[in-house]
Amino acid sequence: MKRILINELVENEESKISGFASKIRDTKYMIFVILKDRTGSIQVSLDKGTQEELCKELDGVIAGSVIEFEGKMVLSEYVKQGGKEFIPSKVNVLSKAEASPLEENANIDTRMDYRWIDLRSEKNQLMLNVQSTFVEGMREHCYKEGFTEIHTPKLIGAASESGSDVFEVKYFDRKAYLAQSPQFYKQMALASGLERVFEVAPCFRAENSNTNRHATEFTSFDIEFAYIDSFEDVMDFEEDLIIAGLSKVKERYGDKIKELFDKEVIVPTKPFPRIKLEDLYKELEKRYNYQIPEFDVGDMNAEAEGLAYKYAMEEFGHEFIFITDFKKTKRAFYHMRKNDIPQGFDLIWRGAEITSGAQREHRYEELKKQCDEKGLTKDVEFYLQFFKYGCPPHGGFAIGVDRFNMLLLGLSIKEEMFIFRGPNRLEP
Ligand code: ATP
Repeated sequence: MKRILINELVENEESKISGFASKIRDTKYMIFVILKDRTGSIQVSLDKGTQEELCKELDGVIAGSVIEFEGKMVLSEYVKQGGKEFIPSKVNVLSKAEASPLEENANIDTRMDYRWIDLRSEKNQLMLNVQSTFVEGMREHCYKEGFTEIHTPKLIGAASESGSDVFEVKYFDRKAYLAQSPQFYKQMALASGLERVFEVAPCFRAENSNTNRHATEFTSFDIEFAYIDSFEDVMDFEEDLIIAGLSKVKERYGDKIKELFDKEVIVPTKPFPRIKLEDLYKELEKRYNYQIPEFDVGDMNAEAEGLAYKYAMEEFGHEFIFITDFKKTKRAFYHMRKNDIPQGFDLIWRGAEITSGAQREHRYEELKKQCDEKGLTKDVEFYLQFFKYGCPPHGGFAIGVDRFNMLLLGLSIKEEMFIFRGPNRLEP
């Protein structure tokens, strides 16, 4: 007999189901097993009087075990689990579990030690499925818009971007580095003639910081596309991409997210508000008496991001806000500049940065100049070559997938990631 899923069970039809036993209750006359698969759960009821042999199979079997049952689903008004129960005629214990070391209210670090058990909860299953659905929605949008998915190397020969916060690895008799982002290679793809590319892949950052929003390895949804007129085109595309991702999440899981996380999935309207950094500073000062510290002038910091969100909600009733016109010393050398202003943006959502994006400098001479200015030319020699033999104007951005999902569900990044990696965490 072929296994069927719990939500496919038909009354009185001989069927086979299997899953984790999330609860086993052994009473005087009955044994009740709550069996869970990816579609839901059902109570399996065994009568000790009439099903003695079957009950024996469950001797010493505790919650966490994986069990297969053959039998029939029947309707019963006494059963809480959706008025349905499963009456087995065969029991097959596929994997006998030991008692879970994870207590119900364990702290996040203990939960991470036993992450695979922790992830079995309904909330965590939803969390992972929401992330998958968000990426699915964005992927579909990219395919629809003529994008090609690429896979760039994560082992690289030169420290990308700035040289700081890069992980160094031993690579035979030389050094290699773990890619901080696919930035250079997605641009190379455009110089290769692909006009629109995306990648969903890990980024590595040797940032020794313990915040609720940084991991040393995270997943980035990266976009780069050619023949843009300005970075406005890049922001326009990001709006559509996020709307596609969130619409899919809302449609599939909106109600469940409300129920389990008490969070509303709001599909944003277009256009998202856009504001220049200088103007934002003025608003933050006027409204919240906030002044950006000297060190961060020309850029944002966590506090300013929180207030920018507050401002967007108050002024525009919008959860998203693009911030533009950062200072050139605070932006990557490869951002195109006009009148000395980097043609890029950050996107803030629910109090945190979820994206940086820009039109890139595709003119070799200009790019080299900007590189020299930051003293990086030697490090990025190979990258500069990409622009020597023809490259269309282009731009792009990266959305931190974990960062996004964490804000969507109101979690910390440790709670949100499938397996978190931080300065003190390399296991499991
Ligand atoms: P932050 O200022 O938050 O450290 P960043 O400016 O270093 O971010 P980018 O290099 O622009 O970020 O990366 C693009 C996106 O990737 C960010 O907007 C964010 O969503 C995500 N991201 C960046 N660093 C991390 C990290 N350490 N952990 C999780 N997500 C990250």
